[in-house]
Amino acid sequence: MFKINENYLKLPGSYLFSAIGRKVAAYSQAHPDKKIIRLGIGDVTQPLAPAIIEALHGAVEEMGKAETFHGYAPDQGYEFLRSVIARQDYQDRGCQIAADEIFVSDGAKCDSGNIQEIFSLDNRIAVCDPVYPVYVDSNAMAGRTGSYDAGTGTWSNVIYMPCSMENGFVPSLPEEKPDMIYLCFPNNPTGATITRAQLQEWVDYAIRTGAVILYDAAYEAYISERDVPHSIYECQGARNCAIELRSFSKNAGFTGVRLGFTVVPRDLKCGDVRLHDLWARRHGTKYNGAPYIVQRAGWAVYSEAGRQQLQEQVAYYMENASTIYKGLTEAGYTVSGGINAPYIWLKTPGNMTSWEFFDCLLEQVGVVGTPGSGFGPSGEGYFRLTAFGSHENTAEALDRMKKLTF
Ligand SMILES: *Cc1c(COP(=O)(O)O)cnc(C)c1O
Repeated sequence: MFKINENYLKLPGSYLFSAIGRKVAAYSQAHPDKKIIRLGIGDVTQPLAPAIIEALHGAVEEMGKAETFHGYAPDQGYEFLRSVIARQDYQDRGCQIAADEIFVSDGAKCDSGNIQEIFSLDNRIAVCDPVYPVYVDSNAMAGRTGSYDAGTGTWSNVIYMPCSMENGFVPSLPEEKPDMIYLCFPNNPTGATITRAQLQEWVDYAIRTGAVILYDAAYEAYISERDVPHSIYECQGARNCAIELRSFSKNAGFTGVRLGFTVVPRDLKCGDVRLHDLWARRHGTKYNGAPYIVQRAGWAVYSEAGRQQLQEQVAYYMENASTIYKGLTEAGYTVSGGINAPYIWLKTPGNMTSWEFFDCLLEQVGVVGTPGSGFGPSGEGYFRLTAFGSHENTAEALDRMKKLTF
């Protein structure tokens, strides 16, 4: 008789987006004439940039001719893509990362969920609270997180690092000693960033204690301030303690195209074992490479035209971020994020819970956001709005929010 992986049964239901969906459906049924504005889910809305479309068309044509047809891609990714990533994302910023330390994949969600496989089940993980749920759930499925307490919304064997207004949404070094530390900056959901000096403290801590840092830099393209690092490898010693995850989803609108990569430096070792070798083995065994067509599209992201067009796309979203940030601040809200990230994180007014504010916003003015408590216990009393809508909808949502009464 087969048995299942019982770790799956310990997972709490993925309550957040299904609960939002249910409430929005009920509202639109009750008010079929009202237009709902969705600033909830973190998905982009602008179409792919012309340089990317052109590269996609070109690659499709190549696939139709015997001379230029491509079958299985190399499992680490095509050299043309890895070398342009290494040069533009790393070497041009003074980071010593080589093309063969880059593993191309179909996105950062998969990589951030899969990376835990190369580590022992004895490792203890530390995560920010609130957090992108993939880090915790993937470790829970593997059996690394202990038991779940529905009352507190926490796992017994996870070190939670609270991020609140008091610490500027940057976690303090934990008192208990973790083996694997997940950091994401610019952060989803809080929109917060870490300075280079603060990140250096984390790198020093990891080296001192023998921990590994799993650094999710999916929102790197949104950084506007100078002292905010674009990569953890801007910190001294990070090659010895950090893996970095990147995505094409938020900088280039690839949420439906699918492309990302993970950097595993050759210096990162456990004893004499290189994590690079383990990840290469894992990748080669379980993954057959991102599609040629998509890697060509990824390559166009780094072309001169692509870079120019994508800067404009990011600027478009950041104008929304600024509209939301300014509008809410003027309306008396306590607001953070929105400067180096497409997320605005606001304190719910009048001590409302995150869900109370959600209901109030939906029912009074038909605007949908995401309750902070869905990202972890420290998210209670906060609310996330995204800058990924259109200018028109974002401006209208703000006008409506100014009419809210509590
Ligand atoms: C959107 C997002 C990603 C990217 O996921 P993809 O699978 O590449 O689309 C990764 N990490 C965080 C925190 C995100 O918000």
